[in-house]
Amino acid sequence: MKIRLRLALLFTALAAAILLAFAAVIYWSARSNRENEFYALLQKEALTKANLVLDAKVDTATLQRIYRNNRQIINEVEVAVYDSNFHLLYHDAVDIDFVKEHPRMLSQIRNEGKVQFYQDGWQVIGLRHEFEGRKYLLTAAAYDQYGYNKLESLLQNMMAVFAAAMALIFGAGLYFARRALQPVAAMTEQARHISATNLHLCLPVGRNADELAELAATFNNMLAQLENSFEAQKNFVSNISHELRTPLAAMIAELELAQSRERSTEEYRSVIARTLGDAQKMARLTGSLLDLARAEYDPAQITFRPLRIDELLFDARQQVLQAHPDYRIDIGFANEPETEAQIMLNGNEYLLKVALINLLENGCKFSDNHHCTATLYFTTTGMEISVEDKGIGIAPDDLPHIFEPFYRGANSRFAEGNGIGLSLTQKIVRLHKGTIEVYSRPYQGTRFLIIF
Ligand code: ADP
Repeated sequence: MKIRLRLALLFTALAAAILLAFAAVIYWSARSNRENEFYALLQKEALTKANLVLDAKVDTATLQRIYRNNRQIINEVEVAVYDSNFHLLYHDAVDIDFVKEHPRMLSQIRNEGKVQFYQDGWQVIGLRHEFEGRKYLLTAAAYDQYGYNKLESLLQNMMAVFAAAMALIFGAGLYFARRALQPVAAMTEQARHISATNLHLCLPVGRNADELAELAATFNNMLAQLENSFEAQKNFVSNISHELRTPLAAMIAELELAQSRERSTEEYRSVIARTLGDAQKMARLTGSLLDLARAEYDPAQITFRPLRIDELLFDARQQVLQAHPDYRIDIGFANEPETEAQIMLNGNEYLLKVALINLLENGCKFSDNHHCTATLYFTTTGMEISVEDKGIGIAPDDLPHIFEPFYRGANSRFAEGNGIGLSLTQKIVRLHKGTIEVYSRPYQGTRFLIIF
C-alpha cells in the first residue's frame, strides 16, 4: 500500500473516530432532552386535567369527549385521577387504558410523591397532588411520537453527514498526502535517471528548508562524493596505464632494434642495461602501487606495535643509502626524550619505513648535492619528524597538488619518479593519526614536517 493511501486512510479513521464520538454525544443528549421534556409535559397535562376535574368541576363526559377528539389528531395524554384510597375519580378513557394502575403502583406514588417510568414504550408519570387539604393521586401517560420522529430524523441526518464527511475527508487526505509527498515522487523520478555514468545529475532540493530538502541535499552530497571518487579512480587507472606503458614501449623499441640485425657484444650489453633500467622502473612502480594498496586498507587489517622512531629513521636512511651510495643523510635530535615512552610510536614498521624512505629519497633526489637532514623533535603531546633539504624547491603552483597520486611538479625533470611517493606517505601518516606539512621555496629548499 502506498504511503499516501496509508496516510489518507489513517487521517480518515482519525476523523471518523472524532466525528463518531461527537455524534454520539449529540444523539445521547438529544435523547435525554426528549425524555425529560416529555415527562415535564406529562406532569403539566396531569395537573391541568386534575384542576379541571377538581377545581373547575368540568363534567367527566366533556373532558372525555375532548380527549377522544384530540386523540384523532395528536398523541393525547391519558390522565387518571384517584383519591388517597385509590378510588378512581376520573379517567380519560377506561376502555383504552394504557396504564394499568394497580395498588402497588398507586401506593408507590403516594409514598414517593413522584414516579416516572416506561410501560410498553409509553412514558408514564405518577404524581401526588393536594387540593383543598385532600390528597389525590394522578397518572399521565402518552407515547412521544413527535419526539421519537425528531430523534430518528436526527440520527438519519447525522449518518448522512457522517458518510459525506468521510468521503470528503478521505478525498482531502489523499489530495494533501499526494501534495506533501510530491517532492518524494519527483526525487524518485530523478533518481531513476542516475547511474554510474551520470552521477552529476542531482535530486531537486525544493524551496522549503524541510526534512525532504535535507534528505535531497544529503543524497546530492553523497552523489558528489561518489562522482569524485569515480573520477579519481578513472584518473588513477589511466595514470597507472600511462606510467606502465612508457617504460614498456621503451623496452619493446630497444629489443626490436636489437633484434633487427646482428649487433656487437658491446651493443647488446647497452641494450640489456637500458631494458633493465626500464624493467626496474616498472618494478618500483608496481612496488609503490602495492604499498599504496596496503596503506589504503582498513586500519583494523594492519598490525600495529610499539616502535622506536629513531631506529626506524636509521633503518630508512640505511636502505636509501644502500640504493644510492652517493646520497648523504644526516639524522639529528632537536631535544632529548625525557622518557623512553616518548621515543616510542605505535605503528606499522613496514609502512612507516616506506613513508620515511620516500621523504629522505625525495630530499636527496631534488638537491644538487644529494643531501638532506632529518631531525626528531620530542614534544609534550607527541613527536615531530622534519626532513629538510637545500635543493631546488617546489613551485608555489605545485605545492597544493604534490600529495595527489601521480602528480609530479614542474621540477620533476630534475629527477626520475612516478608521483606516487608523497600520496603514499600522506596516507601512511594519516593511518597513524598524524599530519604532514610542507614548506618550500624554489631554489632554496624544502622541508616536510610529520607530526605524530
Ligand atoms: P616523485 O618523487 O616520484 O616525482 P612524489 O610523490 O614523491 O613523486 O613527489 C611529487 C612531487 O613533489 C615531485 O614530482 C616533486 O615535484 C615534488 N617534490 C617532492 N619532494 C620534493 C623535494 N624534496 N624537493 C622538491 N620537490 C619535491
